[in-house]
Amino acid sequence: MAGGAYVALAICCGLSAAIVGRIKGSSFLLWFLIGISLPLLGTLAALLYRREQGVPKTRCPECGGGIAVHDQVCMRCGRDLEWAFGEPPELPAS
Ligand SMILES: [Zn+2]
Repeated sequence: MAGGAYVALAICCGLSAAIVGRIKGSSFLLWFLIGISLPLLGTLAALLYRREQGVPKTRCPECGGGIAVHDQVCMRCGRDLEWAFGEPPELPAS
């Protein structure tokens, strides 16, 4: 049955997303549900999830937006960021 094959595939995708999400310190159940709802896309999202989370963030002095410390231009207001040669201010952990 095609339906059964789809369910098996969805569960496989859910499990792969859940395992990736769990490895990255997120919720196994959350990523399992995402993986089942969005086969392949959910797994891809889990794979990409860490990149956002792992990048140290700081704040733009101009607009206050959160930006990655390696960015040299603010994505929100376009301001040139001048801490390329020094230590950017770290955001307090929240
Ligand atoms: Zn800005």
